[in-house]
Amino acid sequence: MSERVGDIALIGLAVMGQNLILNMADHGFTVVAYNRSVEKVHAFLANEAKGNSNVVGAESIKELVSKLKTPRRVMMLVKAGSAVDSFIEQLLPHLEKNDIIIDGGNSEYVDTQRRCKELANKGIMFVGSGVSGGEEGARYGPSLMPGGDEAAWEHIKPIFQSICAKADDQPCCDWVGSDGAGHFVKMVHNGIEYGDMQLICEIYHMMLAIGIDQEEMAQTFADWNKGELDSFLIDITKDILKYKDNDGKYLLPKIRDAAGQKGTGKWTAISALNYGVPVTLIGEAVFSRCLSALKEERVVASKQLPGPKPVFSGDKKKFLEDLRQALYASKIVSYAQGFMLLREAAAQYNWKLDYGSIALMWRGGCIIRSVFLGQIKAAFDKDSNLKSLLLAPFFLDAIGKAQSGWRNVICSAVNLGVPTPALNSALSFYDGYRCDRLPANLLQAQRDYFGAHTYEILGQEGKFVHTNWTGHG
Ligand code: NAP
Repeated sequence: MSERVGDIALIGLAVMGQNLILNMADHGFTVVAYNRSVEKVHAFLANEAKGNSNVVGAESIKELVSKLKTPRRVMMLVKAGSAVDSFIEQLLPHLEKNDIIIDGGNSEYVDTQRRCKELANKGIMFVGSGVSGGEEGARYGPSLMPGGDEAAWEHIKPIFQSICAKADDQPCCDWVGSDGAGHFVKMVHNGIEYGDMQLICEIYHMMLAIGIDQEEMAQTFADWNKGELDSFLIDITKDILKYKDNDGKYLLPKIRDAAGQKGTGKWTAISALNYGVPVTLIGEAVFSRCLSALKEERVVASKQLPGPKPVFSGDKKKFLEDLRQALYASKIVSYAQGFMLLREAAAQYNWKLDYGSIALMWRGGCIIRSVFLGQIKAAFDKDSNLKSLLLAPFFLDAIGKAQSGWRNVICSAVNLGVPTPALNSALSFYDGYRCDRLPANLLQAQRDYFGAHTYEILGQEGKFVHTNWTGHG
């Protein structure tokens, strides 16, 4: 019988798994490492984990389980989908009641809901945890968003809160909620990441259109990073803009302008559509990647479709400040939309989400980390029932100050012929949200006209009437 030394086992020795193991080992936890292709266990022990007494290997699932203290904690960082189900199947014959399986991959929250249910029936606690921050985060402090069987939390909390990132001396990890809540929150995080990246790209496009050179762009992003936009993504954008290739020329203009995606942004947009929440900016960010991928078609169209020549005659310095305001205001809208989606999902699944705590989880360790999230946390701490971030006094004030620059940027983009779908959709959402009367009265009349869908009269809500629209007048 092997000695039960392991505090936790980790299955999946690709970048995320390896780095998380080394992070756990640094914090004094003994980790049992395993991988489907067992040669990767040997390679890991002989290289990255060489001489690390807190890392032990296992050549089979049976051996892995035999090396764990009870209740056993087994974490997977493998490709989302069937690989997760396959490992659960393999683990089950070796586990006992109250053992814990944690899925740290980018699984779809509906899969996590299903797994939680199936495993609870077998007496196994299942946790679906968002892990964010890429390989660097996994190694030195990720943002962790665990959800699932709450009874598991006390057993994994000491490990998770030791290895995660810290912001303002607080761990960027807390219990999110039941069943798929952790993976849902991670999914929305990724959607927001899509939105933040798209917004920055549109700002870059506008800077190009008005003739800002790349050195000045880099300096502008460096300056912005000292203020309210201070964030990881602004910081890396500055680095990317500054980067010169071996030939001494900037690398960025040489990169093919066709974006890839793995699906979490799309899942967020699909959820938004499923739950009827207007998460327009993330939707536009996903579609922008799709449009960018039509590179060949765009090259052909660029030679045929007419449009304005981007000639800017305004004050560039002043316009750069307008761009900053547009970016900030749109970012506020995007986060407001993301939290609206969280609120709706929480209502659907009876998750007791703590929005301030979620903002703190995203405050450090992950790709969307920023100073701004500190303000979101403060807003929810002040009023946990806040209907929309836009109505929190801090953001109400911020967006009020930003709006003239924001509107100027949108007008200029339209006149210059520069596509700014995310900036634009943010402003449209803002104007729609602050509109007490939208033209949906006409829409309801149209629906009633052709489909007898009925409508309500203002002041008589709840009473649905139908009109024979062709009968009069
Ligand atoms: P990955 O490339 O997504 O997955 C590779 C791992 O999955 C390997 O251990 C591989 O085993 C295993 N695997 C793949 N298909 C399998 C199957 N059918 N059955 C059993 N095992 C299988 O690795 P990663 O980039 O480290 O990511 C791990 C998880 O974290 C993923 O869910 C990913 O979406 C998520 N994530 C990644 C990042 C990131 O920045 N990379 C950030 C956050 C979250 P073999 O070695 O045997 O092929």
